[in-house]
Amino acid sequence: MEKISLIVPCYNEEQVIEIFYKETKKVLKKLEKEYLYEFIFIDDGSKDNTLSILKQMREKDNNINIISFSRNFGKEAAMYAGLNNSTGELIVIMDADLQHPPKVILEMIEGIKEGYDTVTTQRVNRRGEPVIKSAFSKMFYKVMSKFVDFELVQGAQDFRMMKREVVDAIISLKEYNRFSKGIFSWVGFKVKYIQVENTERAAGNTKWSFKSLLKYAMEGMLSFSTKPLRISTILGLLISFIAFISTCIIIIQTLVLGKEVPGYASIITTVLFMGGVQLISLGIIAEYISKMYLEIKNRPKYIIREKIYKK
Ligand code: UDP
Ligand code: MG
Repeated sequence: MEKISLIVPCYNEEQVIEIFYKETKKVLKKLEKEYLYEFIFIDDGSKDNTLSILKQMREKDNNINIISFSRNFGKEAAMYAGLNNSTGELIVIMDADLQHPPKVILEMIEGIKEGYDTVTTQRVNRRGEPVIKSAFSKMFYKVMSKFVDFELVQGAQDFRMMKREVVDAIISLKEYNRFSKGIFSWVGFKVKYIQVENTERAAGNTKWSFKSLLKYAMEGMLSFSTKPLRISTILGLLISFIAFISTCIIIIQTLVLGKEVPGYASIITTVLFMGGVQLISLGIIAEYISKMYLEIKNRPKYIIREKIYKK
């Protein structure tokens, strides 16, 4: 029998984790005859009782595995740890807050049976989400898809089922700055999209602030595209060209018309503008260097404090 590994990153989810488990278990019951299963809960350094609740759950279900981090490393690291420790032939990643309806797993299995390697969910609406957040998210996809060379699908979620081969490919990307949305698309394979409605969190609060989303967007851009570096080159060329033309004009004006050098305003604006462009270019380069710095250090992506695993 094939085994399904369910990877669930949890950060301060004491309010929902048990409901999540019960709901998901109901779905797994329907698959009992065909598939074995294992849960891999990753406690991402929760400060509440998530870990002790997980341990209680494990007392009753031997198919629950727990990996507890030494501190909060973020969802990306948690997903990576889960993938790294999964043993199933089919691997599912889902959120602990029931925003990813467990019943979709049944549809995903159908997709795999149809011959797809990955079945991913895609949100068709963003109901229950602040308008400004959806607007920014839309903009992010628009800008991002211009910058990367692979397809980045609007509204694609982390909620997905993958075959072993896909997961092995994902694990083989060992970068420290992990941008899963990009990594998932980058590895390719045959992907099926399932449309799902946006559901609100069952309980508890989202861990994403506007600031962290912005940081995430930036991270994505930097880890999957080097095009921003080209912007400075293009800007440089463009400005040099304009400077050349204006120099020609000034020389001709002086020689032919005998006009004196024009005033202070044009000079100061040019100087300031150039200073700005140079600093921006330096900034872009610095962003990449800082990412390289973190990659070169080659630090572990997460540190495990406790691992409770089926023998
Ligand atoms: N999560 C995590 N580490 C973090 C933040 C979030 O493991 O640092 C988990 C969280 O417990 C949940 C999932 O990632 O299972 C999605 O988080 P959340 O629901 O806050 O995000 P949203 O659904 O609002 O995008
Ligand atoms: Mg959520």
